[in-house]
Amino acid sequence: MKNFNITLLPGDGVGPEVTRAAQEVLHAVAERFHCRFTFDSHLIGGAAIDATGEPLPAETVAACKRADAVFLGAVGGPKWDRGPRRPEQGLLELRRALGVFANIRPARVYDDLLDQSPLRRDIVADTDFVIFRELTGGSYFGEKQRTDTFASDQCLYTVGEIERIARAAFAAARARRGKLTSVDKANVLETSKLWREVVTRIHDADFRDVKLEHALVDSTAMQLIRQPRAYDVILTENMFGDILSDEASVLGGSIGLAPSASLGADRPGLFEPVHGSAPDIAGRDICNPIGAILSIALLLRYGLKQEDEASAVEAAVDTAIARGARTADLAGELGCQAMAETIADELLRAAPRASYAQMHWG
Ligand code: NAD
Repeated sequence: MKNFNITLLPGDGVGPEVTRAAQEVLHAVAERFHCRFTFDSHLIGGAAIDATGEPLPAETVAACKRADAVFLGAVGGPKWDRGPRRPEQGLLELRRALGVFANIRPARVYDDLLDQSPLRRDIVADTDFVIFRELTGGSYFGEKQRTDTFASDQCLYTVGEIERIARAAFAAARARRGKLTSVDKANVLETSKLWREVVTRIHDADFRDVKLEHALVDSTAMQLIRQPRAYDVILTENMFGDILSDEASVLGGSIGLAPSASLGADRPGLFEPVHGSAPDIAGRDICNPIGAILSIALLLRYGLKQEDEASAVEAAVDTAIARGARTADLAGELGCQAMAETIADELLRAAPRASYAQMHWG
């Protein structure tokens, strides 16, 4: 029987609630697909600061590096806003420690939730794209300077950094609808000119079957609202991806629906819902666990290479939504745990008849 070691980092606020929900669904995956998940849980963020003084204890890093995949709930909250160490530093340090350079954020609008979107039905219907955001370069990591009279953030990209995320994004486009939009600001920025050259070269050398288009970030911010259906895979640098992916996360109607994956070359990937710790609703079992559960689908697909299991989780979410399961953010009444149980039930209900019978009555 296959066994996978998963390190769980529940974190703060709603983090522990959505982590329990994610685990519930993994139990159902194990039951349906006859595999085993071994979990260990570690501290990060504010919970780690309270216990150890550090947002990312060394023990947590070691556990993550040993794991087959890492799942994170969320970090942060007002309790730690004024302290010397912030919880969010723990997440940035973890991304660095795991060397994750590709942040993948699917954006999908469910037919049954069209009325929840802030956009008109006819505009958002059938929206289904994925953003590949470069995660370790650009102005967030460049040299920083600050005096009383000026501040600067250096934006730096190497050819190697652009190549590795471009290859990952082209491969994803090839497995989807075969279109990649590379987003930059090549009319102004040197880093964007290099970005465009490298992406074009990789396309021409190895991915001619994928349709490549280049677009400017300001125009893309507008087009994502005007015609989100036009996109399949969007490839972009760190800061542009940060902004565009938050814009994309509202198309589906609730940030609680949005999943993410962060992947590196040879170390375990990090999988987490897009939302933060939602302190305003934490501890009440009312948050939406679907972003966390869809992050488990990404963990199965990209982290553990278990495509059937990943598709089954996504199908169970589809069915639960189609049958009317809703949490409070979608004007429904299910709690976080009840939503997770509903999705876990759908996962088992959809199991091939023989194995379902065997599991329950055999
Ligand atoms: P947030 O995502 O936590 O919350 C924004 C709004 O969305 C809130 O109204 C919240 O109730 C709602 N929301 C979030 N998740 C939801 C869910 N699963 N179901 C239903 N509603 C949900 O963003 P914020 O309020 O800007 O940040 C709160 C804290 O989280 C801050 O400390 C911030 O730094 C941190 N944060 C952490 C991460 C992370 O861990 N990856 C990401 C973003 C923000």
